[in-house]
Amino acid sequence: MPSINCKCGEKLGYGDIPNPIEWLAISDETYDGYAGMIDSETLYQEMKSILKCFKCGRLWVFWDGFKSEPVCYAPE
Ligand SMILES: [Zn+2]
Repeated sequence: MPSINCKCGEKLGYGDIPNPIEWLAISDETYDGYAGMIDSETLYQEMKSILKCFKCGRLWVFWDGFKSEPVCYAPE
């Protein structure tokens, strides 16, 4: 399973479906472009994956998909 190493040492995998440590985010502008019933796969394509480390609370956001490096956000 593909994974990244969190700065706290925890290994965060992103191959599980569904993934218990993954969140999906979509911009309000993009979401606003949809109306009514839409295909979940279509919506999925628009969403950014976020991995949450439950050990340290950091969020790893894949702004440009899994092929690009994620950006790390740490709680203050
Ligand atoms: Zn961590």
